[in-house]
Amino acid sequence: MKCEKCGAALSDGESYEYAGQTLCEDCYLDIKAAPKACDPWAVYTARKEALGNPMLTPVQEEIMTLLKDKGALTAEEICKALSISETEFRINFATLRHMELVRASKQGDKIYYTTLGQ
Ligand SMILES: [Zn+2]
Repeated sequence: MKCEKCGAALSDGESYEYAGQTLCEDCYLDIKAAPKACDPWAVYTARKEALGNPMLTPVQEEIMTLLKDKGALTAEEICKALSISETEFRINFATLRHMELVRASKQGDKIYYTTLGQ
């Protein structure tokens, strides 16, 4: 099975259905959390803002601080540490990811979130 958007190979339990398409988690989250993710200008603008004058919301700053402090964490651990819902985390993380400040990586059957460069 493959993600229909980016072509990444998907294993069982890793695929997401959206509008009749089979997607990887990254592409699915991009669509769900940031409808303008496919707009290169939006990504460019977000990146520029992040480099020049980071305008993070308090929750986004807390996520960044936590990840810099603790290293790789799962969504569950981040939500617990910051007392936020998983939806709140995913929306904020998607924004940070488009600023290229953070990334997600799969280790075993878990997804870990880290700041970029870790
Ligand atoms: Zn994909």
